[in-house]
Amino acid sequence: MIVVMEPNATEAQVEKVVKYLEKHGFRININHGDILKVIAAIGDKRILNPQIIAGFDGVSTVKSIQEPYKLASRTAHPEDTIIKFSNGVKIGGKEKPVLMVGPCSVEKDINSLLEIAAAAKEMGCEFIRGGAFKPRTSPYDFQGLEEKGLEFLAEARRQTGLLVVTEVMDTMDIPLVNQYADILQVGARNMQNFKLLKALGHIKKPVMLKRGPAASIKEFLLAAEHIMYNGNHNVILCERGIKGYDSDFTRNTLDIAAVPILRKYSHLPVIVDPSHGTGRRYLIEPMGKAALIAGAHGLMYEIHNDPDNASSDGAQSLDLPTFKEVTKKFNKLIGRIDYDNKNS
Ligand code: PEP
Ligand code: MN
Repeated sequence: MIVVMEPNATEAQVEKVVKYLEKHGFRININHGDILKVIAAIGDKRILNPQIIAGFDGVSTVKSIQEPYKLASRTAHPEDTIIKFSNGVKIGGKEKPVLMVGPCSVEKDINSLLEIAAAAKEMGCEFIRGGAFKPRTSPYDFQGLEEKGLEFLAEARRQTGLLVVTEVMDTMDIPLVNQYADILQVGARNMQNFKLLKALGHIKKPVMLKRGPAASIKEFLLAAEHIMYNGNHNVILCERGIKGYDSDFTRNTLDIAAVPILRKYSHLPVIVDPSHGTGRRYLIEPMGKAALIAGAHGLMYEIHNDPDNASSDGAQSLDLPTFKEVTKKFNKLIGRIDYDNKNS
C-alpha cells in the first residue's frame, strides 16, 4: 500500500503511520520527495484495512499498489531515481544520457584495454565496460581473466578517470568485483538468479540489471524488485534485446518500446545496449539513436581496437575509428535532446 502524506505533515505524524504499519508486519520504505513524503508499505493488506490509515492525521491518500513490483514502481516513488557517482557523473531523470563503452571481454593484453579506454575518454564517454567473468554459451569459449581483468579495468580507470562497469556472475565473487567496479552488472542470463539478486541487495554500489533474453517487462521489473527488496535501491535497468526469430539478420530483437514503458511504470534509470541487442556492428548507430530518442538514460556498446580478433563478440563491436564517428553522432544527438522527455 502507498501512503501519501500531506505536504505539511510532521515527522511525528509520519512516524506514527510507520510504527502502526510496522506493528502489522509491513516492511516500510519512505520516499522523502521535495514536496511529498510517500510511504511504501509492503505486506499483507488483508490484515489491515487501508481506510484505517487514511484516517490518521497528516495522511493525504492511501492507495493499494496494483503492480507486483512495488519498490520499482513509479506509484511508490513518483520521482526519477538518479544515481550519483563520486566524480559527479549522474544517471537517470533529466540528466544528460551517459555512454558506457569497451570490449566485450577484458583480454590478456592490457595495452589493448588502455588504448580503448583512451579513445573512450577522448570521445567524452563516462564509463569503460568489460567482462572479467564471462558468461559464455560454450564452455570452450574464452571465460574471462577474472581478477587480472578487474585489475586491468582499475588501471584503465586510474589512467583515464572513467568509471568501471563489469559483470558479476556468482554470489561468491561479489566481494571481489565490488572492490573494483563502480557498477556491478548482472548479465541477461542471470536476470532471474534470485540468490545473486538477493546478495546484490546487500551491497551499496549500483547494480545494472540486464533484461533476460526471454523476460517480459514484468519479470524484468520483478527481478529489479528482488535487489531493492533486499536493501539496494541503486538499480539501473538495461534493455539488451530479447529472443526474436530472425536470427539471419539479428542476434536479438532490441525492444525500444521497453524504454518508454519502463520509464512510465518505473522510476529506475534505463540504459540500452544496441550491441547485444542486435549482434551487428552496423546496427549500433541507428538503434543507439533510436534508444536515445525513446528516452534512454544512456547507451552501452562494445568497441575494440581489433574487433576481428576479439576474444568475444567482435561482430557487434565497433573498431576505434568507427567508434569515434558514431559517438560524435551520439554526442550531437545528446546535445539536442530535451531531457524533460519523461514519458509518464
Ligand atoms: C555483456 O554485456 O558483456 C553481456 C554478456 O551481455 P548480456 O548479458 O546482455 O548477454
Ligand atoms: Mn559481449
